[in-house]
Amino acid sequence: MTERYLRIALPSPLRRLFDYRAPAQIPESAWQPGVRVRVPFGRREMIGILVETATTTNVPTDKLKDALELLDSQPLLPDDIMRLCLWAAQYYQHSLGDTFSWALPTLLRQGEPAEARQKKIWQAKRPLNLEDSLLIRAPRQLAAIKVLAQHSQGIAHERLEQFGISKDSVTALLKKGLVTQHLLQLQDTPHKTPSLAQPELPLNDEQQAAFNAIHANQKTFKTYLLAGITGSGKTEVYLQLIRETLAAGQQVLVLIPEINLGPQTLERFTKRFNARIALLHSHVNDRERLEAWLAARSGHADIIIGTRSALFTPLQQLGLIIIDEEHDSSYKQQEGLRYHARDLALVRARAANVPVVLGSATPSLESLHNAHSGRFALLRLNKRAGGAIQPKFIRLDVRSLPLDSGISAPLQKEIRKTLEAGQQVLVFLNRRGFAPVLMCNDCGWMSQCSQCDARLTLHQRYNELRCHHCGHVEIRPHHCPSCNKIDLRPVGAGTERAEERLQILFPNTPVLRIDRDSTARKGSMDALLGTINSGDPCIMIGTQMLAKGHHFPRVTLVAILNADGGLFSADFRAGEKMAQLIVQVAGRAGRAGDPGRVIIQSELADHPLLVQLSEQGYFAFAEQALNERCSTGLPPFSHLALLRADALKPELADMFLEDAYSIAEQLLQQLKIEGVELLGPVSSPMERRAGRYRAQLLLQANNRAQLHRLLTPLCSNLEVLPSARQSRWSIDVDPIDL
Ligand code: ADP
Ligand code: ZN
Ligand code: ZN
Repeated sequence: MTERYLRIALPSPLRRLFDYRAPAQIPESAWQPGVRVRVPFGRREMIGILVETATTTNVPTDKLKDALELLDSQPLLPDDIMRLCLWAAQYYQHSLGDTFSWALPTLLRQGEPAEARQKKIWQAKRPLNLEDSLLIRAPRQLAAIKVLAQHSQGIAHERLEQFGISKDSVTALLKKGLVTQHLLQLQDTPHKTPSLAQPELPLNDEQQAAFNAIHANQKTFKTYLLAGITGSGKTEVYLQLIRETLAAGQQVLVLIPEINLGPQTLERFTKRFNARIALLHSHVNDRERLEAWLAARSGHADIIIGTRSALFTPLQQLGLIIIDEEHDSSYKQQEGLRYHARDLALVRARAANVPVVLGSATPSLESLHNAHSGRFALLRLNKRAGGAIQPKFIRLDVRSLPLDSGISAPLQKEIRKTLEAGQQVLVFLNRRGFAPVLMCNDCGWMSQCSQCDARLTLHQRYNELRCHHCGHVEIRPHHCPSCNKIDLRPVGAGTERAEERLQILFPNTPVLRIDRDSTARKGSMDALLGTINSGDPCIMIGTQMLAKGHHFPRVTLVAILNADGGLFSADFRAGEKMAQLIVQVAGRAGRAGDPGRVIIQSELADHPLLVQLSEQGYFAFAEQALNERCSTGLPPFSHLALLRADALKPELADMFLEDAYSIAEQLLQQLKIEGVELLGPVSSPMERRAGRYRAQLLLQANNRAQLHRLLTPLCSNLEVLPSARQSRWSIDVDPIDL
């Protein structure tokens, strides 16, 4: 008999498979690709995924180990997800085993059985004989069987106590043969065809045209960019497409950004349909996540709504993928497997031959470019559904105006007017804490993180200085650590400071701060939203948490306190990100009958970007930005990969990247790869972070395939490089933060 070898993908950073001997007692047919296998690895045990079996191996016999345990009787991952993971591992230059880890729910990674929880059900045996001699002198058992007899479906084990039945009683009754016990799969709940739970809105012309375009091809792969201004009714279009997919007996995968997890977004989907909805996002616990995943895989969920990683959920009958707010940066994972869920969704939809709908009021330049080149079908919604009109933009030049905790006098006046008219105000400031720095007025000392090249933010409420980059916290000093004088002053304003000031300026109006600090406690966001939804005048002050997914119909004034950040940054995407943020925040205003106004407070009020955005809107801005990217040869007109390294000493990271540079140069020559440029190595924008020195080498190519011809051999070479042992390194394909 020939020996069988198992090629297993293990959750290790190494970009290769590991061979093990198949234990003889397990039949050959059990080794199907996609099953989990427990194996020895060094001194530990690991759980990996079987990729293939083979009859030969390169591992010497004395090094070869036996696999320990087969965990699944059928493949955990269906073929399409195996392929998707393989594609992702190759494209993002990541180890396949680790790619599987990102794709699987935690409990499965830890070896939990891939089975839905079962319910133990107790039932009274019929015909019932309450005079049975076995019940004489057992009054509690008699009482228990009477209660059970009243429930023809039986009673679940964990609910026995609610009915006053003790577990001892049912166990005794079981021994006497008077009751039965059976297991009910949670998924055995009878399947009803999904139906509407709520009437639909009749689509307006634009919505109808978009719906028709997609529905006409609902059985084939195509990417649609649904570019509709905020409030134009994109969600209604999604919902009606979902109705069609469900009616065809298929499942729908909906991806939403992390920040959109508000109950409002989820409710719109859950309220519309009588359907089985599985939620896969960061607020569900590991057990719920596993149950949702299994329900999706077995076809027992109709709609799957989740954040980024839900993209990897196996679905038996995938019929449609929707990516809401496709421009959102939370779709790009920034650690480990650095994938972009939107881009992978296209790969998945193509393989499954189903449509994918990308929706946004502020599409990414990448997607707009794809629409221009004909790869995506562009569908525009230019009117607000429900009749509300677009907010008006006002640029407020504050170069010569004093700012009071970030708020200028003309803005104060506008806020007052709005409140007096009985309306609500939203103030946007993308900076948490009280002040971004504490400064000594005598010697100029500034609060600086000891671990990062960054300032420490003053959090007045906790009397602390905090680093927003590494989490370092220290008590606020009384004296200047440098000159020992006491004149320490907060410089600049964050949400805490603006909140404090607004509260003093408008003592009779509720001021609600909404940022990561104020909403950290469970339920606090709901409480804040409750006050806002009451409709009474109030001021909301917050970070980008406020910018997305919410509807505040009584808000008629949106104020953007500091729009300048994006105009200075070295990151070529900063302008795009800022424009998206401004338009998204602005979109919260005047959603109901009252027209909204957006005041952009800026020291660069004449900056062409702000002028164009406020006068001509996002799409005109985006055209201009695309032209600029084209003439400078930046993405989407070129393709990037970023090699990052960090180490305890700056020279170690540099040494590694210099080596990487030479290897890359050699490979370019050897393989005759044209049109790939190596830029760097240079220090990262924030060189020191959490005590480590960071540097990067940028690879830029005008052709994606050429870039990948370089990346694959480059990464294999880097893995075994001696200088790689003293640095941590990673490769980021299509990076969004440079
Ligand atoms: P978007 O997703 O583009 O931001 P929404 O779907 O949230 O827009 O729609 C904005 C508002 O308009 C919602 O209150 C929604 O109920 C309403 N709406 C959407 N479509 C219609 C329609 N066809 N007729 C009337 N109101 C609509
Ligand atoms: Zn000082
Ligand atoms: Zn720090």
